[in-house]
Amino acid sequence: MSLWVAKVIILLASIVMVAIRAPHGSRSQRIAVATSRKGKLEMLLLALAWVGFLLPLTWIVTPLLPAADFPLRPLPLIAGAVCLTAGLWLFHLSHADLGANWSITLEVREKHTLVTQGVYCRVRHPMYTALLLYSLGQALVLPNYVAGLFSGVAMVLLVALRLGPEERMMLAEFGKDYQDYMALTKRLIPGLW
Ligand code: SAH
Repeated sequence: MSLWVAKVIILLASIVMVAIRAPHGSRSQRIAVATSRKGKLEMLLLALAWVGFLLPLTWIVTPLLPAADFPLRPLPLIAGAVCLTAGLWLFHLSHADLGANWSITLEVREKHTLVTQGVYCRVRHPMYTALLLYSLGQALVLPNYVAGLFSGVAMVLLVALRLGPEERMMLAEFGKDYQDYMALTKRLIPGLW
């Protein structure tokens, strides 16, 4: 199977991801930050996430560690494209629901409101679910262990190490409202966890 199919899927998915994020990224820079909990660990996790995003794009244009290549097969490719599409769809919905409350890191904005509706009504971290789905899709589509898996490892680390601090930050900010919200929702997977 031609590598071009995988390359086109990865490139398209990356473009859609940037197109979804870009307007929120530029808007968030204009809204003042009230509280920041961006420590050294958070900066390291963000850097890893960036590498995870850029490695697949590098793989498209240059033979990145050919020793880590494996054959491309139709079934993982199709499953991966489905995960990428679902991940991007959820990424779009969670950005739309969070609106001006979104930050790339652990921050509370001025006039921050607690979002509990839309995709936030059943899970507290739909955007992280979306990013994990996206990384899984990338690992399935991209037939190179390093470029394909790096983003997944970075995302699992980011989510695992950020969930606790983020929820503590939201509890400190929204108190009983966030406690009540926690009682009604799961973290990443509706009805499960
Ligand atoms: N963890 C969420 C949001 C990721 S963006 C998700 O996966 O969907 C990270 C920022 O979103 C946090 O710094 C916090 O300021 C904000 N945030 C997280 N949950 C929120 C909520 N329910 N309502 C409003 N803002 C929230």
